[in-house]
Amino acid sequence: MHHADLRHATAPTPVIQPWDYVVMRRNAAGLSIDHLAAALGGKLFARHLRAIETPGLRFQQIARLDQVIPFSATVYRQLADLPPHQHPRLCQRCGWDAHTDQPDGHGGLITWSRTDDAICTRCEQGTAQ
Ligand SMILES: [Zn+2]
Repeated sequence: MHHADLRHATAPTPVIQPWDYVVMRRNAAGLSIDHLAAALGGKLFARHLRAIETPGLRFQQIARLDQVIPFSATVYRQLADLPPHQHPRLCQRCGWDAHTDQPDGHGGLITWSRTDDAICTRCEQGTAQ
């Protein structure tokens, strides 16, 4: 049990669920549901977005969010289908993953924070939200 005690000296990493992932990515893009729906093609998408952001609901097919915001359909699938210990590593604040290239707002690309490995450099700089 000794090693387990060490691991839990800091707060355990919360599980990011597929619906959390959609919300985090939408918020990181700075878009409301209505704005994202408009970007996807119209008001009909707002209902879809509310559905896929509903806790407990997992969908086989979701809209092509990756066409309008930094989003990985593969990550969504993994979060929906795999047990938490097999989930991909994501930024705990914005849901960024290392396979999704995304500008950091300072002329570079987002990577992992060197001071807090739970978050990305964009969140570290406080430019996300
Ligand atoms: Zn982040």
